[in-house]
Amino acid sequence: KTMKIGFIGLGNMGGPMAANLVKAGHEVTGFDLTAPMPEGVSKADSATAAVNGVDVVITMLPNGDILRSVADQIIPAMRQGAVLCDCSTVDVDSARAVATLADAAGLGALDAPVSGGVGGAMAGTLTFMVGGGAEAFATVEPLFAIMGQKAVHCGASGAGQAAKICNNMILGVTMIATCEAFALADKLGLDRQKMFDVVSTSSGYSWTMNAYCPAPGVGPQSPADNDYKPGFASELMLKDLRLSQQAAESVDADTPMGQMAKALYEQFVENEGGKGMDFSAMLPRFENRGRD
Ligand code: NAD
Repeated sequence: KTMKIGFIGLGNMGGPMAANLVKAGHEVTGFDLTAPMPEGVSKADSATAAVNGVDVVITMLPNGDILRSVADQIIPAMRQGAVLCDCSTVDVDSARAVATLADAAGLGALDAPVSGGVGGAMAGTLTFMVGGGAEAFATVEPLFAIMGQKAVHCGASGAGQAAKICNNMILGVTMIATCEAFALADKLGLDRQKMFDVVSTSSGYSWTMNAYCPAPGVGPQSPADNDYKPGFASELMLKDLRLSQQAAESVDADTPMGQMAKALYEQFVENEGGKGMDFSAMLPRFENRGRD
């Protein structure tokens, strides 16, 4: 059935997600401070105007502080029983705080961060990791099916963000491990193709080695083969690693590898020219350091 959807934050990710909802026949009203509306999305003059009378509100915003301020505005303007579904990557505490506010106002609430990047948003092949109530999940599930290929209901509010940052903490750590091992192999005179042939079929294999190999010309096509143009930009990896460490601190979890990965990406992005480069550009970074 056709749903009325309010969409707030139509940037690199939100724009194509909203466009796919329109293509599937839904009625989408959008609001963004700067981004243009994709074809078929009607433009609202404010966030509150965008959510007026809709069944589902989707937000795709830069961070938790912005999400909280937008939620404060729109929650009182949403109709009873509607669902607020945030697809941004934000801290677990902000996700839970927004869900509590929504619940108190008689709304459903989901935290539903995504993986798959801009390519996945355009192709409608995102993966959604979702926290919140079963009823709200059931309401939004048909929309997840349009914007993505998979939606996992991970548990109560905050569980979606928890899944996202845990996954990306593993990803950041694994990418660094793969890159430093390639740099060591170089110094030991081991051919990169041989390194790939062995590791990709041995116990050191991983998604970063097998599917997203950071060495140019080795393994399947990856950003390494395109001068390390993202892909998944280093500063976005840093954002997610910061969120994982913020979460670890708040629950007193011991994540020394996550901490180290955060520190290395921080250095890379802020002092070593890594901003705007794919997160696999850690490999040339390790090589260059070794030659200094
Ligand atoms: P973006 O900066 O392109 O889009 C964010 C949009 O929010 C912008 O258009 C901005 O104008 C708008 N905005 C900011 N404040 C607003 C407000 N108060 N009211 C209305 N609109 C407002 O960012 P993006 O790449 O689309 O990322 C969005 C979210 O998705 C982030 O949380 C990011 O971490 C997450 N994410 C991004 C990727 C990716 O590859 N880009 C992948 C997975 C998850």
